[in-house]
Amino acid sequence: MAFQNPEADAFHWLVDMLESVEVGLVVLDLEFRVQAWNGFMENHSGITASQIRDRVLFEVFPDIPQAWLTRKVDAVAMLNTRAFTSWEQRPYLFRFRNTRPITGTEEYMFQNLTISPLTDTNGAVDKICLLIYDVTEFASSKRALERANEKLAKLSMTDRLTGMLNRGTWENLVDAEYERFRRYGHATSLVMFDIDHFKKVNDTYGHLTGDEVIRHTAQTTRNGIRQSDSAGRYGGEEFGIILPETDADNALIICERIRDTIEKSTVATSTGHNIQYTVSMGVAQLTEEPENYMQWLQKADEALYKAKEGGRNKVVIGE
Ligand code: GH3
Ligand code: MG
Ligand code: MG
Repeated sequence: MAFQNPEADAFHWLVDMLESVEVGLVVLDLEFRVQAWNGFMENHSGITASQIRDRVLFEVFPDIPQAWLTRKVDAVAMLNTRAFTSWEQRPYLFRFRNTRPITGTEEYMFQNLTISPLTDTNGAVDKICLLIYDVTEFASSKRALERANEKLAKLSMTDRLTGMLNRGTWENLVDAEYERFRRYGHATSLVMFDIDHFKKVNDTYGHLTGDEVIRHTAQTTRNGIRQSDSAGRYGGEEFGIILPETDADNALIICERIRDTIEKSTVATSTGHNIQYTVSMGVAQLTEEPENYMQWLQKADEALYKAKEGGRNKVVIGE
């Protein structure tokens, strides 16, 4: 039967297009019963339009956050305006497996979501349209980039051998702590320390063994301080620790513990040696005297020098 009805034809094309477009299209009534469900939704959910028609969305998809979606939809219906949520706020509404081969690393499809009001002939909102965009490729490359950047930022701040803060980063923290003291005047201490006779370790056992001893020092230091303290590798076998909210007496306790632990440990190296060693430490509680953080560092370094002069394997508090 060939009758001409351009409007009906146009409607037919439209439905065909919506059926095959690479965007999820769902129409709900205000009780969340499904009124339309396009091919994209069928393909990814495995549920056909006729199976889901008139069923309440939350019964078919119990994973969907009901309270959240209800709040969104109510706002859209009441204000007669569109709402948009991105994958960064909520990774997906429908938990569909990621089927794109290129982004095989992501398990689920990331989705952006648009919620639009649909009005009846009187202009009252009586249905809601959900558009679901597959943004997995974009999201996964953005996430990979973020991970890479985080890694880079971390790498540029830390020392390769020990994983400790490197000198530049650590010195910036010393500077910041110095400024904090100028402002608030809280007790704060700085520690500089150095492995004793380290040249001998290198000369006797080789550089690689020396590296393992340096790593052991870093690990012992990490174990001996609080989360709020900051330890850094200052030079070859020289380290620094910032101890905020700590006066010299308490710094001495912390340092003694680290010094003592090191004195009592034996490092069994992968090169087959058992090595015992010691460290010397200098402590400087910050006073009004230093004019900048470098002078504070120097005070700790002078105390360290005294510990060396005094026979090593010692903690000395600077004047
Ligand atoms: P002291 O008790 O006076 O500190 O004596 P020392 O032998 O430790 O003296 P010094 O600080 O002069 O020697 C440090 C040595 O550490 C010299 C250098 O070859 C070595 N060194 C510096 N960086 C590294 C490193 O990353 N790995 C290894 N294995 N050795 C290093
Ligand atoms: Mg040394
Ligand atoms: Mg040294």
